[in-house]
Amino acid sequence: MGLVVQKYGGSSVADADGIKRVAKRIVEAKKNGHQVVVVVSAMGDTTDELIDLASQVSPVASGREMDMLLTAGERISMSLLAMAVKALGHEAQSFTGSQAGVITDSVHNKARIIDVTPGRIQSSVDEGNIAIVAGFQGVSQDKKDITTLGRGGSDTTAVALAAALNAEVCEIYTDVDGVFTADPRVVKKARKIDWISFEDMLELASSGSKVLLHRCVEYARRYNIPIHVRSSFSGLQGTWVSNEPLGAKPVEQAIISGVAHDTSEAKITVVGVPDKPGEAATIFRAIADTGINIDMIVQNVSAAATGLTDISFTLPTSEGSRAIEALEKHRDTIGFDSLRYDDQIAKISLVGAGMKTNPGVTATFFEALSDAGVNIELISTSEIRISVVTREDDVAQAVRAVHSAFGLDSESDEAVVYGGTGR
Ligand code: ASP
Ligand code: MG
Repeated sequence: MGLVVQKYGGSSVADADGIKRVAKRIVEAKKNGHQVVVVVSAMGDTTDELIDLASQVSPVASGREMDMLLTAGERISMSLLAMAVKALGHEAQSFTGSQAGVITDSVHNKARIIDVTPGRIQSSVDEGNIAIVAGFQGVSQDKKDITTLGRGGSDTTAVALAAALNAEVCEIYTDVDGVFTADPRVVKKARKIDWISFEDMLELASSGSKVLLHRCVEYARRYNIPIHVRSSFSGLQGTWVSNEPLGAKPVEQAIISGVAHDTSEAKITVVGVPDKPGEAATIFRAIADTGINIDMIVQNVSAAATGLTDISFTLPTSEGSRAIEALEKHRDTIGFDSLRYDDQIAKISLVGAGMKTNPGVTATFFEALSDAGVNIELISTSEIRISVVTREDDVAQAVRAVHSAFGLDSESDEAVVYGGTGR
């Protein structure tokens, strides 16, 4: 039997009992004959609490010090977990990201992994230890400073280590039983997906599904590392994410994989833009130069009488004020009338590779929204995804309506959410 990487999220190790429960699971994998490398997140809401604390002592903490602070969270959980494993009579050693050979660029708060040199981890497991690695952190190649990989980055640590160690599988343990056809916190009848392709999982992740981060799935696809997402609170098989179906039962690719939603975006409308070449280029250059990523765009037909048009686009709410500032600076060159900002929006996306070959998916999607009385403000599509923007107040209703319309509702058990504060 080969090496497995197991990752446990913050809600799985939220308190001493959680840590002891996780330690038992880890020991079981070891007893089954695997070499075991564990990646762990900070306990419960520790990371958020540390951020709150920092904001109380300084409104503008530097990236370097912030990373020093936040990585402490994972140090606490990794050492406690190693102690708990040892208390069960098994050998364990904990390692920081830097000790584990996670080498990153030097962009504090959202560093990218550029190399993993896991020599120390490999020797530790070869000596019979369970190696426990602090997730979400690394060391910068040039300055040797401690970095973090961005919120939720422990999943990426786990997949990167799995790739570098040639692991059989990367198991991501969380507070739900796997990847669901919709967020089980919103749709009680969401169904657990047995297997999903990297492609569909990537679309779900970039459409707001929070169970796996886009970057982690991207990494797994690049190195072809199968991911098994499952609950640390139950013994159930979870969801396999891989190129080809894997797991307990043989499964076919579903036409529709699921419905994702995202309430973290805002909409900016540039009102009264002269309808002539170069206007959109100037607007989006101004936004791009501030390093802001935009998502959906629509431009209306211009009114014949005025020759003016409106351009709307969506972006993360957290970037809203910077985007408005950037556009105001170019008001004269662009020549628009006014800017409208709206953060009470939600994006709802339907994802599935089967829509490429099945006609009528779009019509069913829009009918479901219309039957639910939900108004559509923007639309965008890819080959395997349709997204719309609606009022934020309508999001739960819209997701449930679409989920039912595509026959995704389960007849049996309601989805279980075992832990986490959803913070
Ligand atoms: N503790 C970090 C966070 O809360 C990293 C992680 O949980 O993956 O974002
Ligand atoms: Mg976390």
